[in-house]
Amino acid sequence: MSGPFKVLALGGDHIGPEVVGAGLRVLLQTADQFGVGVEVEEDLLGGASWDVHGTFCTDAVVDKARAADAILVGAVGGPEWDGIRIDGPITETDGLTRLRIELDVYNALRPARAWSSLLSRTPYRKEIVDGADLLVVRENSGGVYYGEPRGREVLSDGQVRAYEISEYRTSEVERIARCAFEAARGRRGYVTSLDKSNVMESGKLWRETVERIGRDEYPDVELQHLLMDYALFAVARAPKDFDVLLADNLFGDLISDLIAVISGSLGMLPSATLPAAAREASPVKGGLYEPTHGSAPDISGRGIANPIGAILSVAMMFEYGFGCAPAARAIVGAVDSVLNAGVLPPDLGGTADTGAVTQAVLGYLRSSASWS
Ligand code: NAD
Repeated sequence: MSGPFKVLALGGDHIGPEVVGAGLRVLLQTADQFGVGVEVEEDLLGGASWDVHGTFCTDAVVDKARAADAILVGAVGGPEWDGIRIDGPITETDGLTRLRIELDVYNALRPARAWSSLLSRTPYRKEIVDGADLLVVRENSGGVYYGEPRGREVLSDGQVRAYEISEYRTSEVERIARCAFEAARGRRGYVTSLDKSNVMESGKLWRETVERIGRDEYPDVELQHLLMDYALFAVARAPKDFDVLLADNLFGDLISDLIAVISGSLGMLPSATLPAAAREASPVKGGLYEPTHGSAPDISGRGIANPIGAILSVAMMFEYGFGCAPAARAIVGAVDSVLNAGVLPPDLGGTADTGAVTQAVLGYLRSSASWS
């Protein structure tokens, strides 16, 4: 028995708690089957925290997250809280952002693959998407989302000026570039770095730094640079041409939603956001694991959210957070079996609700363990 690992579960808002509930069921059963000790504690984040505590992330949650081996997050936000204006840094206005900064998680790994049973559910012709398997490595603690100063002011002519700055330091680009090259070494050995070095100073620094790290430290990994606008077209047109996509905070946010198309739905994508390169230290303490989708207020409370992004995030937790790759593979295998069996939630064209999809995953997990 390994562990016990402390897991903090933060459902967040709208469908967040629904998919985290599904993820926790898979977490507990997998832990049991693979002899991994886990202790789960739940708390509030985002609007749910605001409604109770008047803040989007309490100090107590930050302390619990610091003490945890892994944090499972649903999603935060919704129209109820959009109008709340707080003077101060973004850590005051966005609970998830506060958590990411406090934990210094910068290495956001966002995989997307084409599932053979879902090829007809994508807008692609089969031969374009079959076999596509991408990993976005998104810098997640810097860039335009966090650059200071930021704010708004009323100008003398009565207009409002709103602003933020996009900034990166050499060390920030170096460390995320290494994460991408390391990840590529464990995959097909091919990194595509995305930037706007034609128009942005931070983009120029990004490109020259990634180029230097690749040349000096990872000569075995193939590297190409693409401007972000063309990259969106190139990845959408031929996703199989790419392996690891390295991007800053903003561009990584954009490209990871785009690649969800190859998986059939936004509800399919997991992520792990780590305070280190994945191969640097295993298990990695203090990673955030969350589906890449948002809180989907349009379907919340109906029990129809696709839980697979959250369930696959739990698989990433076993791989990186607990150093238990066999358990991760078992969860991915169970998801594949569920999809092959046609147990599909509405976003994939089926009628199975969140509970039915989760139950089916648990069933295949159980039978996979009895084969091994
Ligand atoms: P969204 O990802 O919540 O939803 C986009 C569309 O995808 C919606 O039609 C939704 O129903 C669907 N969808 C998303 N996840 C799904 C799932 N698991 N199963 C089935 N359908 C799913 O994006 P949005 O509508 O732009 O944002 C809604 C809220 O979520 C906003 O408040 C936004 O700020 C927040 N948000 C949070 C995060 C996060 O917490 N990491 C990320 C993105 C957006």
